[in-house]
Amino acid sequence: MPNIPTTSLSLAEARVDAGLLRYKRLRQWVDNALTLIFPPRCAGCGRVDTVWCARCQREIDLVPFVQKANRFDSLTAWAATGVHEAVLQNAVQALKYERALGVAEPLGQRLAHCAVDLAWAFDLIVPVPLHEERRRSRGYNQAELMAIVMGRILHVPCHPHALRRIRNTRSQVGLDQTQRLENVADAFVAQEEGLRDLRVLLVDDVFTTGATMDACARAARATGAKAVYALTVTTARA
Ligand SMILES: [Zn+2]
Repeated sequence: MPNIPTTSLSLAEARVDAGLLRYKRLRQWVDNALTLIFPPRCAGCGRVDTVWCARCQREIDLVPFVQKANRFDSLTAWAATGVHEAVLQNAVQALKYERALGVAEPLGQRLAHCAVDLAWAFDLIVPVPLHEERRRSRGYNQAELMAIVMGRILHVPCHPHALRRIRNTRSQVGLDQTQRLENVADAFVAQEEGLRDLRVLLVDDVFTTGATMDACARAARATGAKAVYALTVTTARA
């Protein structure tokens, strides 16, 4: 008699399977209910039913990239994808403070297009890190989410842990240029030898005075990075 392979589940497997199915149905039901009660809103304009609408995408597509004179010895060059206002500002704030994680995708795409437009040559994308405590309380690092999208689009490795924030600095909001430089001085370290002879692209959401980028770039240079570019979604209007 030929040995016919059996595909039927054992009783135990069937029970696990039924349990999993019930769990999945419950999850689906809860997800649907939550979507009805809290429908997604566009992070740019607030319209209901999408995390990022086509109109806001068209609007940011028209925002010109900003490249400014470099004031920092530590940086090779820096640029932003636009000024911190209107739809771009709303998107950055929604990603950072309102857990609108889906917005990392259009913003990461925009950063990638800006990097291509600038024709910068880099080997590695490194998001500006949050201190471990802040990362834990927020649950994610918004710069890291965008850097991962960029890496995927540009086929450049993204190393979220190449830099570490060793001091939990106070927020830079409300500090002047000198206070900002002091606040973040020596706040970052690079992995030992991790960046030797590499050209690094630092990514963050907002470039204000550049104090944070400067401190990150110094840490990267200290372990041998040979070029350090800085790119952010927005910057203050000059
Ligand atoms: Zn919108």
